[in-house]
Amino acid sequence: MGASVELIMALSLKARSVFLGAPGAGKGTQAKEVAAKCALAHISTGDMLRAEVAQGTELGKQAKGFMDLGKLVPDDVIIGMVQKRIALPDANAWILDGFPRTVVQAEALDRSLPKAQALSHVVYFAVPEQVLFGRLTGRRTCSKCGAIWHVETKPTKTSGICDACGGPTVQRSDDHPDKINQRLVEYRTLTEPLLTYYRGRNLLRELDANRAPAIIFKELLQLMQ
Ligand code: AMP
Repeated sequence: MGASVELIMALSLKARSVFLGAPGAGKGTQAKEVAAKCALAHISTGDMLRAEVAQGTELGKQAKGFMDLGKLVPDDVIIGMVQKRIALPDANAWILDGFPRTVVQAEALDRSLPKAQALSHVVYFAVPEQVLFGRLTGRRTCSKCGAIWHVETKPTKTSGICDACGGPTVQRSDDHPDKINQRLVEYRTLTEPLLTYYRGRNLLRELDANRAPAIIFKELLQLMQ
């Protein structure tokens, strides 16, 4: 596909999308790209929670213990946070990255959206489980600009320094093996049922996310039209 066609597709994209998939499926990387290209709000509940923890807010204090254990933060905490965010003026068209993660959250989202602003679709990032582990243990995130790197598949030119902004890259504390296992258990038991939930509502669009990011990006723009 030519770059100009891609650009036209990107500019016409004004969807309200959920990106669904296991930790390490590549939702965050793609959401950042698509949101930047299409001027969509990128709403990552993981990023929002990490910011709350870093600022030492009440919400951050409530969430931290769960995040440190690789467990999901309670539904009421996360639902309130997302409802406030999608009520902001920039939130007409958005990508929800990492929310909903339980059926209770999905039902709350349905209730929160006015009919005229209903969910457009849910993109499921399908990646075999054995691939996820390697993606997560090697992941490094820039603590300044949030760019995502990988020690093997997408290394920075200088180890520990972000190519994009020069900030320090760090390993997320929940990207250590014991936490990863717990996060995958949470995903299988609490989040995977959402596939059935959204398939039943005819909103699910499946993406083979075990391919090169550039290929996934192109297909994603098509899936989101
Ligand atoms: P993420 O960056 O999306 O992998 O999220 C990091 C951590 O934040 C998760 O392991 C959870 O502890 C918490 N979290 C993020 N989004 C949610 C959510 N929708 N529901 C519950 N917990 C969440």
